[in-house]
Amino acid sequence: DKLKNSLNKTRKSFTEKIEQLVVGYADIDDDCLDELEEILISADVGIKTTMKLMEDVRLGIRKKEINSPEDLRPFLIKRISEILITGENTTVVAAAPPTIFLVIGVNGVGKTTTIGKLARYYKNQGKSVMLAAADTFRAAAIDQLQIWGQRADVDVIAHEEGSDPAAVVFDAVQAAIARKTDILLIDTAGRLHNKSNLMEELNKIYRVIKREVPAAPHETLLVLDATTGQNAIHQAELFTKTAPISGVVLTKLDGTAKGGVVIGIKSQLSMPVKWVGVGEGEDDLQPFIAEDFAKALFE
Ligand code: GDP
Repeated sequence: DKLKNSLNKTRKSFTEKIEQLVVGYADIDDDCLDELEEILISADVGIKTTMKLMEDVRLGIRKKEINSPEDLRPFLIKRISEILITGENTTVVAAAPPTIFLVIGVNGVGKTTTIGKLARYYKNQGKSVMLAAADTFRAAAIDQLQIWGQRADVDVIAHEEGSDPAAVVFDAVQAAIARKTDILLIDTAGRLHNKSNLMEELNKIYRVIKREVPAAPHETLLVLDATTGQNAIHQAELFTKTAPISGVVLTKLDGTAKGGVVIGIKSQLSMPVKWVGVGEGEDDLQPFIAEDFAKALFE
């Protein structure tokens, strides 16, 4: 299937190398453990998570749960699955419409595309959807969102380039309430060259939403690009300053060997991965199901 295919490269750089430890080493010695550590780090699992996993492996050896290199793979599948599966990752739905999604992230990570895909996903479920173009900094961003809106046949609330993003959001929230729209998806700016302004702008948007609908945003989704590996983790740390993030959308899992970053995001940041992007098309977004991901990674 699509998820499994999208993880082909990650599987090559990660799972297959772990399997090769069995060929390379007769016993679990220091060299074997060093190599395992290197595999985990180069798969973008992250230093902290790698250290944690290595500690678990050493404990497993002491407890005789791991007796030979053959035992490493099943042990890691189990541990990584446990890491991925812990915690809540269901998507929140409002008691009364609209359910408001604030979508944030750096330019180029796939924010607009993700919003287009989410619009399609919820339309397919029979829900009414509205988009808000709150990245008013770039005319191209507004155009892009309009195109996705047409494609999914949903309303788009947009002002002109350079206008106040918080005003767009205010209008969109009002319109979604008036039209009883089920899902409002808000696109935002992601220019990183002026970080503090951006963070302030996002925080203002967040406050405008909260003022109008106290229970919202029901989801604040941070979009991260899997191909950037550990940089994605740094971005996540930056964006926590703008609003409480309820989940991560990890895009571009297809074609990267850095899919291990899912494990790092889950164990290092207390943010659940809720969706994964597995291609550029409008159907290439999947709810993240940890069991399926762990299976697709190892089988
Ligand atoms: P934004 O600046 O964050 O809004 O990013 P865009 O939505 O414009 O996406 C930037 C590029 O990434 C576009 O070329 C998208 O087609 C591409 N993209 C987005 N999501 C995915 C994905 O899951 N897989 C792949 N392969 N490409 C993606």
